[in-house]
Amino acid sequence: MITPAQTLTLLAAVILAAGVAALVWLSLAFVARVAPRASCLMAGANAAAALSLTLHALRGVLPDTLTYRAGDVLALASFALLAVAVSAILDRHPTWKPATAAVLAAAGVLALMPYDGDLRWQARIVNFGGAALTLAAALSTWRRLRAADGRRTPAGLSLPLFLIAALMTVRGLETFLNPGRTPDMRLPTEFNLAFLWAALVLTLLQNATLAFLVLMRLILRIERLLERDPLTDTLNRRAFDQALDHAHAWLRRGRGYALVMIDMDRFKQLNDTLGHAAGDAALRQMVRELQPCLREVDRFGRLGGEEFCVLLPDTDIAGAALVAERMRALVHATPLRWLEQDWPLSASFGIAEAQRDDADGAALLARADQALYRAKHQGRNVVQA
Ligand code: GH3
Ligand code: MG
Ligand code: MG
Repeated sequence: MITPAQTLTLLAAVILAAGVAALVWLSLAFVARVAPRASCLMAGANAAAALSLTLHALRGVLPDTLTYRAGDVLALASFALLAVAVSAILDRHPTWKPATAAVLAAAGVLALMPYDGDLRWQARIVNFGGAALTLAAALSTWRRLRAADGRRTPAGLSLPLFLIAALMTVRGLETFLNPGRTPDMRLPTEFNLAFLWAALVLTLLQNATLAFLVLMRLILRIERLLERDPLTDTLNRRAFDQALDHAHAWLRRGRGYALVMIDMDRFKQLNDTLGHAAGDAALRQMVRELQPCLREVDRFGRLGGEEFCVLLPDTDIAGAALVAERMRALVHATPLRWLEQDWPLSASFGIAEAQRDDADGAALLARADQALYRAKHQGRNVVQA
């Protein structure tokens, strides 16, 4: 026998969970300043849900317009905010217009409907509307996460959204199966008990999943900052050394690699004549030009100053010479355009192929550096092995 106290307690638990989640997201947004926009939206979604359920629980105590009409609109707003929050976490430009339009349209319809007697149509609008909003968010999350690096943020993280959509659909369908009854979550029915348990679990699960996604995004961004050179966005010295160690470990298992060392010619002269900003622009221009020469597996790093190195896995000296020659021609082909004048650019290249008896990657780097030194001595703008 289910008692009203059971459903009311569960309803209170869901309200509490959403309320606490709202506070946690608020502190993430304003204290920790982690993903402020998405966190604010999640705080709003949870607050709207908590408020809507509180109004539901207070039916008969507060004025009906508030507990029914405002409560229903708040419930829909909560689903819309959740959908926009998900989009804010996953996309650079979150989509908020469809969700807003859906809530406004539903609110308009609810405003025109009489709130007396049978409220099943109002419940259908809220439940199916919420299901549709959540399903759309679930599908776009699924697609996004599958397209992104699925290893660290698997697409399965969209599952709670699908489950919420299913739960709201079931609640909407229940208004057809249970005729002649005002949909009220407080009624001590088995359906309400199961629904509230599911709502509690999914509220916690959904918030945990999105918090995980926000933190994951933060970690990926920090990792990127740690391994990139801020000026050219190539790998910094430490990250390049790591890539080199990695490639050298593979050498023992039979996978060779080659290095192309790059040094811009007469760079000091450019800096001294046109200024440091022009030098920086030349570095960025060169990197931009060279990037299309590389495969996805190649690693491009800045060793310091105007010295770069490219690591080419599964490549021998002939392959490296081909790549380096293509790069040399590219750099030489486009001068730096600075303050209405052209400054000719060129770079010298030293290449080397890994040998079984190289003690480590640094040994190969030293050979490539010697080759580069010879290229400079040959008069620059050449490739040397
Ligand atoms: P070479 O043809 O023999 O390579 O001559 P070079 O002038 O290119 O070589 P050198 O090593 O003498 O000069 C490198 C210059 O690069 C010196 C330094 O001021 C400049 N440099 C190092 N890092 C940066 C940077 O981040 N931005 C700019 N603009 N200049 C840099
Ligand atoms: Mg130089
Ligand atoms: Mg140099």
